[in-house]
Amino acid sequence: MNSNKIKQLDKENVMQTYARFDVAIERGEGATLYSPEGTEYIDFTSGLGVNSIGYGNKKWAEAIYAQAMKLQHTSNLYYTEPYVKLAETLTKRTGMKNVFFSNSGAEANEGMIKLARKYSFDKYGKDRSTIITLQQSFHGRTITTLAATGQDAFHNFFFPFTEGFKHVPANDIEVLKSEITNDVCGVLIEFIQGEGGVLPLDEKYVNEVAELCKANDVLFLADEVQTGVGRTGSLFAFEQYDVKPEVLSFAKGIAGGLPLGGFIANEKCSKVLTLGTHATTYGGNPIAVSAALEVLSQLDDTTITEVAKKGEYITNEIQSWKLPIINEIRGRGLMIGISIKEAVPRTLAEQCSLNGLLILTAGTDALRILPPLTISYDEINKGLVILKKTLEKEI
Ligand SMILES: *Cc1c(COP(=O)(O)O)cnc(C)c1O
Repeated sequence: MNSNKIKQLDKENVMQTYARFDVAIERGEGATLYSPEGTEYIDFTSGLGVNSIGYGNKKWAEAIYAQAMKLQHTSNLYYTEPYVKLAETLTKRTGMKNVFFSNSGAEANEGMIKLARKYSFDKYGKDRSTIITLQQSFHGRTITTLAATGQDAFHNFFFPFTEGFKHVPANDIEVLKSEITNDVCGVLIEFIQGEGGVLPLDEKYVNEVAELCKANDVLFLADEVQTGVGRTGSLFAFEQYDVKPEVLSFAKGIAGGLPLGGFIANEKCSKVLTLGTHATTYGGNPIAVSAALEVLSQLDDTTITEVAKKGEYITNEIQSWKLPIINEIRGRGLMIGISIKEAVPRTLAEQCSLNGLLILTAGTDALRILPPLTISYDEINKGLVILKKTLEKEI
């Protein structure tokens, strides 16, 4: 099927909820994608932080095939080996206690929110159920995770939203202090706000949040759906801040392109969700979990260190252009935001796609680079050439 036919069928048969770029994709290799007509695109998006080990990854595809031939799914009422192996890998590599698997980021956050509320309910009873999140945050698209999301634009149409969320400005510890009232059971943060604009939290602020939570027996929760799984140059972003969340959620990059998410709890929170209090049909599906085991085995310490280096390389390159259109560059590792002046990021991203580079936007002012973690320097350089020329409006 050619690109035009695909686009036509989409318009005719699909709910038009996505502002799609004028690009159809058929296949990929490394960090390069191809349209049905063979048009080449350098991929600075990785399917929104998902395809962490790139395209055409043989060992990953083989792990999926082998598992599909053995057992594609079984109910969570039975034990399976890949599931417990992935749980063990995650607890070992984070130093935390245990895991619950879901299918997506929103579901992971929803489960983490349930855990926080039940922790408080068990210990203090009802009416201590409020969760504080930050302005500009993004936590998902379910009715509850929309309520958690600290952006007014998301609080529309779908009333009534779940009660029990308060939003405070990021990096302002005094406001947080005054908002930790008797009804609060958790504070939920992203170390680097992804959808909000690639906005990293100050280290000092994060430390103070953790201390404040501890002092009030309020759970310190981290949404690492975008920052997790090597993205920022450590397996999870918390490792680069001097804190440890009590529960953290993950999804996006974990299975390299298959749907998988979940949350990891420390010792204190490991027994909150008890028999029958949380469940899912697909969560921790054997194929997704086998894919995730392969992703984590490829994302060893060397590869993750490379992520940090590639991120620095990209940032330094872009800075060296000294383009007046660029306001500042934010982020860590391969999660990079380029704040733009006097131009619409979306228009620039569209122009990039016409020139052979897929790139994302974030917040209102930024272009966002989120490539496969295994992207080669050759592909990085090709992508940067297109980005520079597009920003200079030379192509
Ligand atoms: C993408 C994202 C989510 C939502 O994940 P889905 O898999 O789309 O439900 C939640 N939190 C953050 C920080 C994200 O980046």
